[in-house]
Parts: sequence; C-alpha cells; structure tokens
Amino acid sequence: MNYYTKRKILNLFFPSRCPVCDEIINVNDRFCPDCTEKITSYTGSFRISGASEFFSAFEYNKKIMPAVFLLKKGNCGNSAHAFGACLADVLKNNNISEKTDIIVPVPMSDESRQRRGYNQSELIAETVSAEINKPVKCIVRKIRETKEQKSLRRAGRKLNLRDAFQVTENITGKRILLIDDICTTGSTLSEIAVLFRKNGAEDVICATAMKVMKKKTDT
Ligand SMILES: [Zn+2]
Repeated sequence: MNYYTKRKILNLFFPSRCPVCDEIINVNDRFCPDCTEKITSYTGSFRISGASEFFSAFEYNKKIMPAVFLLKKGNCGNSAHAFGACLADVLKNNNISEKTDIIVPVPMSDESRQRRGYNQSELIAETVSAEINKPVKCIVRKIRETKEQKSLRRAGRKLNLRDAFQVTENITGKRILLIDDICTTGSTLSEIAVLFRKNGAEDVICATAMKVMKKKTDT
C-alpha cells in the first residue's frame, strides 16, 4: 500500500496532530500554522567525517523540543511524517535523489527498539523514501548497547561508539543517504559513514530532521 494511502486510512482512526503542540491538523499537514511560524529552518553548514554532505530540516531549540519528546516517547506517527516530509523538501531542493541509491536509517539496538516499539529514524526515513522515491534498507545493525552520547565528552563519544555497528549486506559501489532524527556533534553519523566507506560505499550523505546548534562553526 502506498505511503499516503496508508496515512489516509490511519487518519480515520487517529487524526493527525501537530507534532509540537498536539492540536488536530489536516491529514497531510505537517505542523499547525502557529508552530510552522515558530520553528526555525536549518541553514547552517556542518561537516561530518566520512560523509560528503550534510543536510538538516530544523534547528533544534526550545520551540521544537516538545516535538522531540513526542517523537521519542509517544504518539510519533505524525511527527515522523512532519519531520520526514520537511527533510525531504530540503533533499529535493539539493537534488539528493539523483545522488542516492539507498536510504539507511541510523539503527537502535534490538533491545532499545523493542522497548520503544519503533525506531524514529526509520519512520523518518520511510517518509523521505516516499518523497524521493528511493528504497529504505536497514543494512546496518547496532550490535551492542552504548551510553547516551550526550552524557559524554567528545573523545568519550568516539570510544563509546567503537565497533557498535555492523553492516549486514554488500554495499560496494552504493551511494547511501544516512538518516537520523537529531545530529548533535555528528559522532554517530560519522562512525557509520566511515564504516560504510570501509565496506566499499561509493558515497555517503547524511541528513537529520534536526541539528543541535552549539558552536559558532555550526552556523
Ligand atoms: Zn502546533
């Protein structure tokens, strides 16, 4: 079943809600008009080692924070759609579909995924896939639990992720669009991008729904 048909049927039972303020909105709307005005598009440039380009839809700030809570803790259906569709717009504007063979979401460990019931990056990737017409392939596994990245300093972050991921399919010559919900320092994306390169990927482009703005170099 087509992505948008599925959304229409689901909407009969669960009306779409604004991912930020939880107001009921039209089925294919992303955010309510008020929140659309409040949230900030990402216009910075950021480099992730192992990746040739990086894109993000929004700056992560106080105004968008409630959406992240919903995306991770509960009613995530429309927030994944809203973020995925906005990210797809950015990717379309940069002709990323032409540079992509497969879309790969950043994985969660099997245990975390089971606990949450879904992987929000995978849901965002599915919306992007419906918009740019490239397939989602979950070809990287998180093979061990890691500490929360935000609790660690930069050096610790790298160490924390070492050998945490594994590629499960031959990706030689593939151009990969790697998708995650939020990018903070980019260490997770970089770890996977470098792994893809080592496994023969031709190109890796990273894209996230939100980018945490911390250092001046990010802007
Ligand atoms: Zn709203």
